[in-house]
Amino acid sequence: MTDMTPIPPARGCGDAPVLKQRGQREVFCGLTGIIWLHRKMQDAFFLVVGSRTCAHLLQSAAGVMIFAEPRFGTAIMEETDLAGMADAQEEIDREVGRLLARRPDIRQLFLVGSCPSEVIKIDLSRAAERLSQIHAPHVRVLNYSGSGIETTFTEGEDACLASMVPVLAHTDARQLMLVGALPDVVEDQALSLLAAMGIENVQVLPARRRSDTLAAGPNTVFAVMQPFLGDTTAALERRGARHIAAPFPFGDEGTTAWLAAIATEFGVDAETFARVTDAPRARARKAIAAAAETLDGKSVFFFPDSQLEIPLARFLTRECGMQALEVGTPFLHRQLVGPDLALLAEGPVISEGQDVDLQLDRARAARPDISVCGLGLANPLEGEGLTTKWAIELVFTPVHFYEQAGDLAALFARPLRRRALLAKGAAA
Ligand code: SF4
Repeated sequence: MTDMTPIPPARGCGDAPVLKQRGQREVFCGLTGIIWLHRKMQDAFFLVVGSRTCAHLLQSAAGVMIFAEPRFGTAIMEETDLAGMADAQEEIDREVGRLLARRPDIRQLFLVGSCPSEVIKIDLSRAAERLSQIHAPHVRVLNYSGSGIETTFTEGEDACLASMVPVLAHTDARQLMLVGALPDVVEDQALSLLAAMGIENVQVLPARRRSDTLAAGPNTVFAVMQPFLGDTTAALERRGARHIAAPFPFGDEGTTAWLAAIATEFGVDAETFARVTDAPRARARKAIAAAAETLDGKSVFFFPDSQLEIPLARFLTRECGMQALEVGTPFLHRQLVGPDLALLAEGPVISEGQDVDLQLDRARAARPDISVCGLGLANPLEGEGLTTKWAIELVFTPVHFYEQAGDLAALFARPLRRRALLAKGAAA
């Protein structure tokens, strides 16, 4: 096929110096991922082994799910557990036994570690192994950590998916695996574009339901849909699978480049690629252009939060006419975001990790038109007259691929329009 690689800027950020920060950080913990993972995996249950704080976090973050049959819960550790006076392993066995007896619909159970379970060193991998043996073949029990000591909020998904990779079946078949938990409707769009190009044998990790046919092996190639899946990428490579490097599918350009990398891998010809992508590309461009009227010429400052920052900065600067002042990310996985970094024109500070006070000082000095940050920083910044966008919304809202490209741009345009209207009202 013809080369669909985006034209890089004269000087990109691929070799730009990275400001490494190792101070206080303001980010949710990895338990937050359960909120979108439990919707995706319809026969899974997430049992957090944690404290009342963990239970409150989940309940308030997932408040809207209160009327649904829950697919997550917290095995609350009481003071006796924390003091090491109770046998935690026995408690977990009892709790899991009760849960599975009540809920035969559960086919996969994740024991999710938290700060308290880690502090007192409960071995959840031992528990998962033992419980898998007890409840196999109906239920598979896995474990991962969502603790705030170890994980920021999108790392919860990474840890969860990485925990699934070692138990995937082995296959020697040539196949494509898409990796990342996207809303079903968005995932279906990607699958239908790939099917229209004639790419068959496509699997998705995580599958919507536990599937014993999900497999990996030396002839598996995989494309990652979220930039925070570093451990999952490494786990798949350990299984012999090969990563297809590409910019992330945000916006017209990112989606086209992501699809083109897969199309090249599978030998799709240029005519077929154009036939499949021309119409949705045109729709995406039109929708982006509408929001870009507000964004053009505005500056953006990313606090490190979701790990989506680098691909989003690439989208906002190249497709919406914005200027990035600082692009902060909790972790910089070059293998994953390298193609996006190379497309981001030099200029912004690229920072990794956080020292929140120092970064707030930089934001105050830069006075960006919009700051993308966690909930904890948004209110103080708004109070200082800076417009903000909650980073967590970018994870909860469908933003990938062509049909969502306009919505993605609009997510940034809305707060700017609101502030302009408020300013107009105040002046009237
Ligand atoms: S895992 Fe840690 S950071 Fe997350 S809610 Fe529980 S105690 Fe808080």
